[in-house]
Amino acid sequence: MKDFIRIILEGAYINIKRIIFAADRVTDMEIRNSILEGRVKPKDKVAEISCIGCAGCSNVCPTQAVEMKDLEEPIELMEGLVKTQIPVLNSEKCVYCYYCHDFCPLYALFGEAGTIHPNDVGKVDLEVEKLLDKPVKISEDKLAFINQYLSDKSIIEKKKT
Ligand code: SF4
Ligand code: SF4
Repeated sequence: MKDFIRIILEGAYINIKRIIFAADRVTDMEIRNSILEGRVKPKDKVAEISCIGCAGCSNVCPTQAVEMKDLEEPIELMEGLVKTQIPVLNSEKCVYCYYCHDFCPLYALFGEAGTIHPNDVGKVDLEVEKLLDKPVKISEDKLAFINQYLSDKSIIEKKKT
């Protein structure tokens, strides 16, 4: 369980740099521009199976376009970890900045890891158990730093002012 949380936080840490510095983004700027110019119509996509319901995407969305909805039946992902909510995207509020995609530790929004076209990624095929095989190298202070962003939306709000 502890390893699992560390992996999620490591993914969040890698992506938090993109959120704060808008650097090394997964989502290609050309793709983003083509969507913003109306040349491509993105679909609302949430990979509900991969999603662990952490609500990080909802916290980072600058336009409050991601609402967490309660599941009818909570899902036990593994011992001690129960998914109770999943995100729902509001396409009228979404400006397709893809912060949610770039933030999500499991790439459960719009697509998968790597440079992607959000309409062309097909199904997300992520085996969470296999992530546990990867070594995790992240210090405790960085984990604490990330944890603030996952749990406290006001930190992001303050950064914008
Ligand atoms: S889509 Fe990703 S960031 Fe959003 S709740 Fe699911 S796992 Fe967390
Ligand atoms: S793409 Fe941007 S605006 Fe749209 S839901 Fe994700 S974070 Fe919010």
